[in-house]
This record gives sequence, C-alpha cells and structure tokens, in this order.
Amino acid sequence: MKLTIIGTGYVGLVTGTCFAEVGHRVICVDNDPDKVKTLQQGGIPIYEPRLEELVRRNTEAGRLSFTTSTAEGVENSDIVFIAVPTPPLADGSVDLSFIERVARDIAGAMTAYKIVVDKSTVPVRTGDQVAETIKRYCKAQVEFDVVSNPEFLREGFAVEDLMNPDRIVIGVRSQRPVAALREVYSPFKAPVIVTDINSAELIKHASNSFLALKISYINAIAVLCEATGANVQEVANGMGMDDRIGRRFLDASLGFGGSCFPKDLSAFIKIAEQVGYDFGLLKEVQKVNTQQMNRFLKKIVDTLWVLKDKKIAVLGLAFKQNTDDIRMSPAIELCHRLQKEGAILTVYDPKAMDKARSVLKDVRFAEDMNAVAEGCDAIVIATEWDEFKKLDLDRVRKTLTHPILFDGRNLFDPAEMERLGFIYKSVGR
Ligand code: NAD
Repeated sequence: MKLTIIGTGYVGLVTGTCFAEVGHRVICVDNDPDKVKTLQQGGIPIYEPRLEELVRRNTEAGRLSFTTSTAEGVENSDIVFIAVPTPPLADGSVDLSFIERVARDIAGAMTAYKIVVDKSTVPVRTGDQVAETIKRYCKAQVEFDVVSNPEFLREGFAVEDLMNPDRIVIGVRSQRPVAALREVYSPFKAPVIVTDINSAELIKHASNSFLALKISYINAIAVLCEATGANVQEVANGMGMDDRIGRRFLDASLGFGGSCFPKDLSAFIKIAEQVGYDFGLLKEVQKVNTQQMNRFLKKIVDTLWVLKDKKIAVLGLAFKQNTDDIRMSPAIELCHRLQKEGAILTVYDPKAMDKARSVLKDVRFAEDMNAVAEGCDAIVIATEWDEFKKLDLDRVRKTLTHPILFDGRNLFDPAEMERLGFIYKSVGR
C-alpha cells in the first residue's frame, strides 16, 4: 500500500521503516531538513536496536524514502499517518499545535479521498478537531476519514514492538476506512480492535497512566521494604507470579521518566479535570515519583554528607536502557541535582552521550563504563543498561577513593556487593 508518515522521530521513523519492511511503499516526511538530509544520505538520527539495518535495506529496495514536503507525501499516498510531537504545556495539558499544523498542511494538499490516521498520543476528542480542521482548510472539498491508531511501542524495543504488537487499536467514525487499515496491518500477526475514535484515544492515555501507576506502586512498596527490612524484589516476584498482576513494571527504582509517562500522566490528569473529574489517584502517582528521586538523593547525601566538591561517577544518562533518548530522563535530573549540591561529575552512557552533551555542562564524559569511577568518591547507577551488570566491580572498587555504590536500578545483589567490599545502597532492599 502507499503510505505516508508525517513526523520522522522515534515513532514515525520506526513505524515507517517497519511498514516498508513488510512490503508497503512508505514516504516519511519531517519538517527538520537536517534530519531528512541525514536519512537521505543513509544516516540515522536516533538509536534503536536493528533500526539502522532496516532503514538501509528498505531505502535501497526503494520502499522507503524521505522528504520535507508534506504535499509530496499526501499526493502520493492513500493513507497519511501523523506522528508529530504532542509535548506538555506549562500547566500539564497537551500542546496540540503540531497536530493542528499538520492537519492544515494535509488539508491543503488533498485532491482525492485520503485516510488520515493519528498515531501521536492525543487527548480524547482530538480526532473531532482534526476532522473539523481538515474540512475547514481543504479547498478541494474532497472526502476523507480520520482514524485514531495509538502507538504502544517502547523505545529501546521499538522495532520488536512494531513487528509484534500486543494489539492494534483502530478508532473510527465510520466503517469506510477499516478495511484499508486492516490491510496495512495484515502482515503483523496481532489482534485488531476496532473502536470509536474517543475510546481509541482514551486507551492510550489510560494504558500509559496505568503503567506509571504500577511503577509508583512498587516504588511506594519499596519505601515500606526499606522501613521494615523486607526486600522489594522478593515482594515483586511474589506479587508478579499472580497472573492478575504480572511481574512487568514492578521494578523499584529512582523513578520513571522519558518523553511519554510524565507527559501522558499530566495530560490525563488535565483531561479528567476538563470533564469535571479530579483524578487524585494519578496525582498520587506523580507525587510518589517525585518523592522517589528525592529519597534517592537523600540516600546519597546521608552517606556522603556534604556533596560540594565530591567527585561522583554516574553510570547511565538515557531515560532507560537501549535508547539514546534523554528526554525527561531521571538520570539527567539526578546529574543536575548533584551538580546543584556542588558535586563534580564524571558520566558514562553507552548510547546517550552525544545527546547528553547539550544538556550537561561541566561534566567529564568517560570513555568506558569501567573507567568512569577513577578518582571518584562514589558511583551511582542511574539507568538499567544490561551491560552495567557486567561492570568490572573489582576494578571499580579499587579505582574509587571510597567503595561506595548507589544503585538506582537494583542491578546487583546486596549480599554479593557487601562480600566484594562495597558500601552498597539500592532501592527497597
Ligand atoms: P519525536 O520528537 O521523536 O518525533 C517527532 C518528529 O516530528 C520530529 O522529527 C519533528 O521534527 C517532526 N515534526 C514536528 N512538526 C512537524 C511538521 N509540522 N511536519 C513534519 N514533521 C514535523 O517524537 P516521538 O517520540 O516520535 O513522538 C511522537 C508522538 O508519538 C507523540 O505524540 C508521542 O507521545 C507518541 N508516542 C511516542 C512514543 C515513544 O516511545 N517515543 C511511544 C508511543 C507514542
């Protein structure tokens, strides 16, 4: 099928590439000329496992191309997906100006029936606004359908998630676009659920808020574990074996971050407020998350006392493993807060160092994870990269001036760390 994706970021590029991989012909549009140029020249602007290879293969096969022109994409496709940012405004509500801009651009370029599919995460009822905007700005007065098709991929596993989704949600106003959307997704073996547009939009915010809730729940349990000498991992394992609960998203940590959970949570609270419901439950989720970072910092201060001029190594800058994304990363927030206390930082991340250079000033970027602790008073683990589990602990202990390790991701076994001679502080254990 002939598809266009508008917005070639984490969602748009991975979606477009996976669509091309299963045989569709895809045009990816972005209004950032540098990004488009990089992609046209065979480069890749983000890190996602397997993505580079798939982009190359599909570009070479002529199934995937890149442009800055929305009109070119719209003219040459039957279905146009929107995957532009929906960032938070200062009051927590969603900035829909990117969506509105794209709706107008699509409308201006339409000369025949099109299906316009929103993949960005948007507040319930945005579909109605998009439809109204297209109608208003489409001079050709052609027919069109607006569809909501929220995306559930996880950064770091985006290709895998796109290729093997748990479900595909298609929100429609009429049955007309359903067959075409089913055809787009027919190569992906996953259940398709067809709903009204409002329900589809709500499914996305409700899902992300629920996942954030699960994380805050286990982080609250971690506080109880620390106060009682219990071990949060044992508790999570015991809870998770119950099918009704499940083990995933029950890892205690210094809190969640990233470009989705914090913004989707505040958006959902705002959406509820606008329809007259005080979503206190989700406000508590936010509160627990903020407290979790404060608690972790307090642990560091309680151990090292005054942080001014203390040298601290930080392992991990990305908001989670397998990505170079640092948007609202708890690791970056931690770095800033340690710097505010006067600490001198050496940092390392396997993939996020380039992006971190723009937001972290006056830090030393280490060449590899085992060198990061040299001459430092303590080391902090802030991102759950698998490779950190293979840290040369013997070398790290010897190169630290004091063998103190703060583990914000519970990567190591406390008893083993003690045996190795570390003062080891983790979360909820
Ligand atoms: P992103 O910032 O990585 O990518 C968005 C892209 O859109 C950018 O490259 C930007 O240059 C481009 N863009 C902005 N305005 C444009 C315009 N008028 N015309 C053409 N291109 C334009 O964002 P993302 O992480 O891919 O997120 C996109 C949407 O998907 C958001 O609503 C987000 O909430 C949602 N989402 C994200 C994830 C995720 O893990 N990142 C997962 C599911 C859903």
